[in-house]
Amino acid sequence: MQKKISIVVSVYNESLGLEQFYNHITEVLSATTMNSKWDYELIFVNDGSRDSSLDLLRKFASADSRVVVINFAANRGHEAAMIAGIDYATGDGIVCMDADLQHPPESIPAMLSKFEEGFDIISMIRTSRADAGLFKRITSKAFYKVLNKMAGKNKFENNSSDFFGVSRRVANILRKDYRERVRFLRGYVQNVGFKKATIEFEASARAAGESNYNLKALIKLSINAICNFSDAPLKIGIYSGIISILAALILIIYSIVQYFLGNAPSGYSTIIVVLCFMFGVLFIILGFISEYLGIIFAEVKGRPIYIVDSVIVEGEERIEGGEIN
Ligand code: UDP
Ligand code: MG
Repeated sequence: MQKKISIVVSVYNESLGLEQFYNHITEVLSATTMNSKWDYELIFVNDGSRDSSLDLLRKFASADSRVVVINFAANRGHEAAMIAGIDYATGDGIVCMDADLQHPPESIPAMLSKFEEGFDIISMIRTSRADAGLFKRITSKAFYKVLNKMAGKNKFENNSSDFFGVSRRVANILRKDYRERVRFLRGYVQNVGFKKATIEFEASARAAGESNYNLKALIKLSINAICNFSDAPLKIGIYSGIISILAALILIIYSIVQYFLGNAPSGYSTIIVVLCFMFGVLFIILGFISEYLGIIFAEVKGRPIYIVDSVIVEGEERIEGGEIN
């Protein structure tokens, strides 16, 4: 029986390397699926790109009926794009990957064999990261250590990536039961259960353009978030807590030094030290509570994970949201 693999690719301002990616992956997919029981569809999710990515995608879709384009009304982030791609995918197996060739299309044949062997989840593990500096590697490692300590029964693969494969039934679970607004998609994928395979791959450097996930972009994004649309002000507690504790530490050191210099610290500094320290702890706890409150806030509002502007299937572009029934 004919089977279909859906490749989901999230695209945000990738115009520089998109053509190269499309040519490369089409070559691999045609070679792999030729004379096999697999057919494929290539789903591009345009996550509100502000460059000419959408024009390129329209061009691919008009010449190639296997290309599907889901065009977001605005940028919603990489995870939202992957979720949309999974929602629209019609394949028996679904593979999510990046558009910058950091996830090698050459791994797809190996993933297909795993699907054929009956695996439901294929976790792609990075063996090395050509683009990641020491800082990124250390922080990522520490992140997974802490996460695994705190997550109880759930386990997270170190070096896992947003390059993964899921079977139709896992996709159905993601479509139905994992609709959180605040989420960690690759964490869900690794923890739904079923038969899981891991394949190693070497992450190469970006084919073109720049990473969208730099520290500056994240900080800027959070500043732009205004109170009405964000829970950022709720998090002030954490920062005030940290500052209070730092102030307390400085005062402690100052008092000790003064003590050994023969100037016994006055009652005044002791009180300030204790006050600062206690307030610091209090604010940090308050900050954590706010963190959870913010997540509940986002879930209660229940706004859509993504909003689709148009969809291109078999070269036909359909505008979404025109009629209400
Ligand atoms: N991406 C997206 N929406 C965003 C940011 C990124 O769909 O808001 C896509 C991007 O086009 C790429 C993938 O997510 O295909 C990974 O992004 P990037 O390469 O910037 O991240 P990195 O590989 O540096 O972690
Ligand atoms: Mg990348």
